[in-house]
Amino acid sequence: MHLLKSWVTTANDPECPFPLNNLPFGVFSNGGAPRCCTAVGDKVLDLGGMERAGLLKPLGLTEPALNTFMDKGPEAWAGLRATLFGFLGEGSQAAAMVERHLFPMDAVTMHLPFRVSEYTDFYAGRNHAINVGTMFRGAENALPPNWLHMPIGYNGRASTVVVSGTDIRRPVGQTKAPDADAPGFGPCKRLDIELELGAVVGTGSNMGQPVTVAEADAMIFGYVLLNDWSARDIQAWEYQPLGPFQAKAFATSISPWVVTRAALEPFRCSTPDREKDLLPYLREPGPMLYDIDLSVTMTPKGSKTPSTICQTNYNEMYYSAAQQLAHHASSGCKMNAGDLLGSGTISGPEKENRGSLLELTWDGKEPLTLEGGETRTFIEDGDTLTLRGHAQGSGYCIGFGTCIGTIKPAPIFP
Ligand code: CA
Repeated sequence: MHLLKSWVTTANDPECPFPLNNLPFGVFSNGGAPRCCTAVGDKVLDLGGMERAGLLKPLGLTEPALNTFMDKGPEAWAGLRATLFGFLGEGSQAAAMVERHLFPMDAVTMHLPFRVSEYTDFYAGRNHAINVGTMFRGAENALPPNWLHMPIGYNGRASTVVVSGTDIRRPVGQTKAPDADAPGFGPCKRLDIELELGAVVGTGSNMGQPVTVAEADAMIFGYVLLNDWSARDIQAWEYQPLGPFQAKAFATSISPWVVTRAALEPFRCSTPDREKDLLPYLREPGPMLYDIDLSVTMTPKGSKTPSTICQTNYNEMYYSAAQQLAHHASSGCKMNAGDLLGSGTISGPEKENRGSLLELTWDGKEPLTLEGGETRTFIEDGDTLTLRGHAQGSGYCIGFGTCIGTIKPAPIFP
């Protein structure tokens, strides 16, 4: 695959996250009602406006969420992608007609790109599971006995999934220090990030009807950056026996652009060799992961200097999103357009590849030193965390943009 050139010349820069090859989908507004859009170069293309002007056939793009369009299925997705290649490609006869629907990206507001039907979070990165398991249960019991046989997950909250740029309130909750006699209630003291990729389900499944891994892959519309904010002290006290609850219910941030499966196609790669053979319903018919470089920066309160605290790659996952989705539907659980599946924290093998502060500071025992000399174990009020991701092609890249959140002080609670 090579760079597809556009008459929107900023899209042809090899460093541009949004070349014509990408065409991610989002929802924007610029004074009026929010509607669907794509990105090309440093511009947003108003797909809702184009649909209203009769340049695109009715696909639900005038709506303030991608759900209706996603629910139309892979043929509609491919059709629109081909139409946009024609409109935006170098030498297009339609340039003059399309140009009036372009807006500078830095002058628009981006919204949550789809109504999150439900949010499920997995725990499918092996390095992360081993690191956390070692801290909580010791090295011998690091991986639970089911871990190598299925992608472990829990049902999270869709109500608090927010778009990048939304400030996050420090949660309050019940915690108990190991040596304390009784729990207390107050602001979280060990607030953390989890660097994840979110898979966005585009077409649903029927209740009572499992799907194969191949069918699951075809149901996925695209991927977003996802920060699964986590309150470690609340989590440590509440998580047994049913898993995380309030520790992860207060906020999950996602990037405003859904990068499509089609754009990521050239970057497919395989999940790692299996330590234990998977049951047939979880076996993949082909490569289902993607080679996507990911990073996290922290900008401490009062500073303008971001420090890179983690660099890793989505190819570190043990289970793909398609396997997670097939497992999710395997009981007969109905999946819907707009379901969001968090990959699980993506940690690589080395210390600098760890996708959470819990791992980076080894349970708070090894503070990080940032560029300006500040140290951190967990997140302090006013700190800004930014996730980035891109797949590197030859002469172009497929960017995810950023997923940003700043922590605000906890609410006053009697
Ligand atoms: Ca998570």
